Amino acid sequence: MSVMYNRVALIGLGLIASSMFWAMKRRRVAGHVTGYARSAETRQTAREIGLCDSVAGSLEEAVKGADLVVLAVPVGAMAQVMAGIAPHLAPGATVIDVGSVKAAVIEAVMPHMPDNCHFVPCHPMAGTEHSGPESGFAELFDNRWCLIVPVQGARPEAVAKVARYWEALGSMTETMEVDHHDQVCAVVSHIPHLIAYTMVGVADDLGRVTDEEVIKFSATGFRDFTRIAASDPTMWRDVFLTNKDATLEILGRFTEELFALQRAIRKGDGDHLFDYFTRTREIRRGIIEAGQDTDAPDFGRISKG
Ligand code: NAP
Repeated sequence: MSVMYNRVALIGLGLIASSMFWAMKRRRVAGHVTGYARSAETRQTAREIGLCDSVAGSLEEAVKGADLVVLAVPVGAMAQVMAGIAPHLAPGATVIDVGSVKAAVIEAVMPHMPDNCHFVPCHPMAGTEHSGPESGFAELFDNRWCLIVPVQGARPEAVAKVARYWEALGSMTETMEVDHHDQVCAVVSHIPHLIAYTMVGVADDLGRVTDEEVIKFSATGFRDFTRIAASDPTMWRDVFLTNKDATLEILGRFTEELFALQRAIRKGDGDHLFDYFTRTREIRRGIIEAGQDTDAPDFGRISKG
């Protein structure tokens, strides 16, 4: 693979940025990669584990001469980071973000964007419940979608190059309109996380979450909720604060459906429950047919015997 960007700056050195670094190295997508994170502790960890070719001591130093700058910080920090790097961007540089919400990030970033640079908002639909510089791995984006949400007036060549870049990291790409993106992500990611947080919270309220019994039998579904509910609190706080309208709308629909199921249970309406669960089972089959998950029992986890 030939080098696509000569100098890449990763701002934020968590799960997504560190995975991008290892994926760039795997296929030699970038020349020199510089990293920067807010705390000296994270920067020191990055140096110790060889994360990035160099670790910068300031935002200015990180973006100096970079032809690609990646904003990989929580959504709520995007405006502050963008304001900090804007005066130091090289002419012609492309800036991308990886935030889970797009309207709020575009609103935060665009006012600071110099006319001679290009902003291409991105959202890699890949992640784990782990965070921080040591959580990344090169394969995170393989066969996962990366949604690209071009801003008005974006230069098509800059957008097309960013799409090719994500493909070089292993992703499949699709462009999407901003409001549609935020609503789709509320359905497929944001509300499922909220439900997982709630379910684990309910078990905790009942004083049972650490019960031997709950842990012992958690393979029956609860375990997957606890995994999702272990996701980074800062990131998810920012997602709900910044994707407020779409998440509230989907939450409203979810609550209506939940009440309908509650009613069916109370009334003993087995047909309602059976038809509902049959429909949702079909959706799961569709996901497997699209190659987005495994149909191996227990999501392919290896049994400990
Ligand atoms: P993470 O592992 O929690 O890491 C966040 C990084 O951002 C840390 O290195 C942190 O530095 C740095 N940071 C925070 N505020 C900063 C600031 N003001 N200036 C400079 N650096 C700052 O996060 P992540 O999971 O990689 O998420 C990064 C972005 O990707 C978020 O916008 C998130 O919405 C998006 N995303 C996440 C996932 C996922 O599943 N995790 C999936 C898709 C997209 P310190 O360590 O020094 O605090």
